Amino acid sequence: MTAPSECLFCRIVDGSIPANIVHRDETLVAFRDIDPKAPLHVLIVPTRHIATLNDLSAGDDALVGSMFRRAAVIASEHGYAERGYRTVFNCNREAGQTVFHVHLHLLAGRGLNWPPG
Ligand code: 5GP
Ligand code: ZN
Repeated sequence: MTAPSECLFCRIVDGSIPANIVHRDETLVAFRDIDPKAPLHVLIVPTRHIATLNDLSAGDDALVGSMFRRAAVIASEHGYAERGYRTVFNCNREAGQTVFHVHLHLLAGRGLNWPPG
């Protein structure tokens, strides 16, 4: 497991790696994806290191809820509340997780295929 000190998203949270941050509070940071897959592509991450969805506990329920609610606020701020947007958590290899610090993708601004690839 990646130590928080070596984790890319922990380093974005602590400011030692720069990112285009769109929201920050005590428990969440949201920033633009470096390789956007849609006109709006934001990653919403907990400030605390959690590697995958499998590592969440019942005590994290409010945190996860706040990630989705923040995604809705950011989508709305960018004018996508009515047009639509997608939120995605990838968990582990077959889902394509490449950074092992839980992150909610927010994608908007183009037609998004279903089912995903
Ligand atoms: P995953 O594939 O784990 O679900 O998503 C990881 C995301 O992190 C990818 O969409 C990738 O483009 C993004 N990413 C990887 N490295 C960086 C980085 O250094 N800065 C930012 N802002 N995003 C990154
Ligand atoms: Zn981390």
